Amino acid sequence: MLLCRFDDNRLGVVEGDQVKDVTEALAVLPGYRYPLPVFDPLIAHLDDVMEKARQLLPSAKSVSLRSVKLLAPVASPGKIVAAPVNYLKHLIEAREDDQIHHSNRVEEIQRAGLFLKATSSLVGASEGVALKHLNRRNDHEAEVVVVIGKEGRDIPADRALDYVAGFCVGLDMTTRGPEERSFRKSIDSYTVLGPWLTTMDEGVDHTRMPFTLTVNGELRQQANTQDLVMGIPALIELASSFYTLHPGDLLFTGTPEGVGPVVPGDRIHVEVAGLGAMDVAVRAQ
Ligand code: MN
Repeated sequence: MLLCRFDDNRLGVVEGDQVKDVTEALAVLPGYRYPLPVFDPLIAHLDDVMEKARQLLPSAKSVSLRSVKLLAPVASPGKIVAAPVNYLKHLIEAREDDQIHHSNRVEEIQRAGLFLKATSSLVGASEGVALKHLNRRNDHEAEVVVVIGKEGRDIPADRALDYVAGFCVGLDMTTRGPEERSFRKSIDSYTVLGPWLTTMDEGVDHTRMPFTLTVNGELRQQANTQDLVMGIPALIELASSFYTLHPGDLLFTGTPEGVGPVVPGDRIHVEVAGLGAMDVAVRAQ
């Protein structure tokens, strides 16, 4: 199922160029009171929501996909985990270009581990990216994103896919500079998630996902998850060996070579085979 959140927090199922409005399925979610859970309620009850959505589909109102405002398909992730340098050619590129590394030592992922991005940086495709610090380089990083489906810690790689709810297309926007990674990558709107959630029943093969990123139509990044240094199961094993993973946690799997700057007025197009495409407008904050 391709599940999107759109317009004023409506829930939709994407079918071709149409969105079927199944917002009523959200009624299966329990009402929470303070303190709120540290997981995303929709993802925690995804099976129930999808079952209800299937019941609603035959009579659901249909709207054109192009006419809706796409929000982040996961509204309230407890944490956003990200892999720093997880494609070999990007490691080489980052070490060679001082405009990327800024005298920070660029370690292999096995030594560097993972980092976190602020959840307040999360937006959907239609919200666009609002650049800050325009005197700095602000780079696009196209990434495949894993959405964690259930709670787990110390998850072995060979069972990791049992903990996955689905996949999304992601942009890990980055201001280059000498500061800590998480600081430079946590600016409001610097985490784009979309266009929708592709759930596991769609049967996408995470080991072979070709993807591309263009800026104003010019090809900048082209890669395939088969070239990940640390594949998705290994990333889940690593992440869960340090902290408990919860439903709705996002795992950005790393960007390939070809990262580069964007400026206000640019349009980023990211497409992952099987997961869809998102168009993201860049503006100044
Ligand atoms: Mn990244």
